[in-house]
Amino acid sequence: MLEKAGEADLAAIAAERISLIPDEEKSSEELYRSRLDTCLACDELNAGICGRCGCFVEIRAARKHSSCPSEKKLWRQ
Ligand code: SF4
Repeated sequence: MLEKAGEADLAAIAAERISLIPDEEKSSEELYRSRLDTCLACDELNAGICGRCGCFVEIRAARKHSSCPSEKKLWRQ
């Protein structure tokens, strides 16, 4: 997502952060992709960053117990 936004350096930082998440705390690949698909269709997304919380959505989505910060809760665990 950050790569597509032309933010290669930020994408590398996000990938490193995700690699540090313990396996038992990581989302499954299916869950991760589903969450990012939702973010891609969300008006709050801007260059890989969520307008609701200011986080990199790739990192947020990679944590199994994370959730969307919107009051609509567009995705959950
Ligand atoms: S509000 Fe939720 S769905 Fe929208 S970009 Fe942020 S995390 Fe993704």
